[in-house]
Amino acid sequence: MIGGGLAGLSCAVALAEAGLRVRLLEKRPHLGGRATSYTLPDGSEVDNCQHVTLRCCTNLADFYRRAGAADKVRFYSRLYFADKQGRRSTIEASSWLPPPLHMAPSFLFFSALTLADKRSIARALMAVARSGGSPAGAEGLSMLDWLQRMKQTRAAIERYWRVVLVSALDEELARTDARYGIEVFWKAFLANSMGYQVGIPTVPLAELYDGCREALVQRGGAVELRSGVREMRVAGKRFAGAVLEGGAEIQADACVAAVPHSALPGMLPSEMFGDGAPLAGLKHIKTSPITGVHLWFDRTVMTEPFLTLLDHTTQWVFNKTLLSAPRDGGNAKGGATKKRGIEDEAGGKSNGQYLQLVISASYDLVPRSRQEIVDLCRSELADVLPATREANLVKATVIKEVNATFSPQPGIDRWRPAQDIGMENLFLAGDWTRTGWPSTMEGAVRSGYLAAEALLASFGQPRKFLQPDLPAEGLCARWASRRMEGRS
Ligand SMILES: Cc1cc2nc3c(=O)[nH]c(=O)nc-3n(C[C@H](O)[C@H](O)[C@H](O)COP(=O)(O)OP(=O)(O)OC[C@H]3O[C@@H](n4cnc5c(N)ncnc54)[C@H](O)[C@@H]3O)c2cc1C
Repeated sequence: MIGGGLAGLSCAVALAEAGLRVRLLEKRPHLGGRATSYTLPDGSEVDNCQHVTLRCCTNLADFYRRAGAADKVRFYSRLYFADKQGRRSTIEASSWLPPPLHMAPSFLFFSALTLADKRSIARALMAVARSGGSPAGAEGLSMLDWLQRMKQTRAAIERYWRVVLVSALDEELARTDARYGIEVFWKAFLANSMGYQVGIPTVPLAELYDGCREALVQRGGAVELRSGVREMRVAGKRFAGAVLEGGAEIQADACVAAVPHSALPGMLPSEMFGDGAPLAGLKHIKTSPITGVHLWFDRTVMTEPFLTLLDHTTQWVFNKTLLSAPRDGGNAKGGATKKRGIEDEAGGKSNGQYLQLVISASYDLVPRSRQEIVDLCRSELADVLPATREANLVKATVIKEVNATFSPQPGIDRWRPAQDIGMENLFLAGDWTRTGWPSTMEGAVRSGYLAAEALLASFGQPRKFLQPDLPAEGLCARWASRRMEGRS
């Protein structure tokens, strides 16, 4: 296994479970790839960027279970929004209305949208729901084109569709394949009443992968960090060994390359990337940036666990002090709201608070200095968290991930190779391979499971790892089955 991100880890754990001896080679000193954490020079441990999952990410949940990390992710059923004036709205499923109507009551009270905005949104959502998640006429369009065809108001686009989708897909609506945007709404907000619930790790990201090493070692395998692979040797249609950066050669019965798509051309023979070759499409896959801003205040400035900002550059604010607190607070599933508890937890022993801000598709921020970005974020926080105006900023860090995810541009799927590229014993994994999912942790795990299935099938030991989606419920179940019948 080459690469210790979520694709490589999930594939390795699945293969070890199937009885294979897996040797995982990771270039960096830690596991997790783009979803990891590390220690700053002053000793504080930070995620490279806050990562969230949703209940509809069934394969990631399965991987966390296999890695023994499921209890380190806490789910929230209430989503908080703040507008320019700091006014709050929340979105939450009702327990008495079946999908797709379960969000309707809180949507009706969503104060940042007018009745006309809501009517246009409801019309588009119903078109998605009634088609079982696949409305006619969206193929080949950008999400923005589709929304305009669906006659969405300007505010509906800016304060609803854009807010959800730029964070979920890390791209502007005009550069996003409509199918990807529609699927987010179908899977998270329409088909199943729990799909939208937000899962947030309570520990630094790298800790989620502690169990993976053990799973491999138990089967006689190993995890080797700081072991970058320089070259994969190929003879005909066979993987014939890997050469480490230090020059050592490694043999294996089979290999899964779970590295970013941009790393492959330097590692495999150039013929594999030529016109008509299995990896010819890779050059068309573009990436988009995410900026994470970490701010430590000297006092409590926020009581919600997280907040989505409308009409600001900053999209999400995570209350890291509260989210990592051991006690169950906020609206986390399994715990009642304990306002007093939140304030105590948020204050913590030092009475300070650590916030992490996320800006997806942050093209405009890439050329800006760290200080400019911190100043911008502070001025936006003053709108929605007034206590930050008086608070002292103790410390700040900006982490720009310029190639954070692949850009889900219209037509992207035709450039994404399958995990099985027709080689006898060389397979691919990575969020960028063909999974049908955007560049997410769920997509990475799906690719890992698919690669494990392909490798085991090539050994004559077929096995299934891929998990089904959450089942469609209520009216959506009927509409989804009608769509399936129409297909068969
Ligand atoms: C800032 C940011 C925020 C994000 N937020 C979210 C979120 O909230 N929710 C979500 O679902 N997704 C999020 N994502 C996306 C998610 O992190 C990725 O989709 C996922 O982690 C990709 O996993 P991967 O294994 O496919 O690739 P990677 O994580 O890139 O793993 C590839 C691994 O291969 C290693 N490698 C590379 N070259 C070599 C070599 N030559 N030899 C050995 N090893 C090598 C790398 O070091 C790396 O560990 C975010 C991504 C970023 C960057």
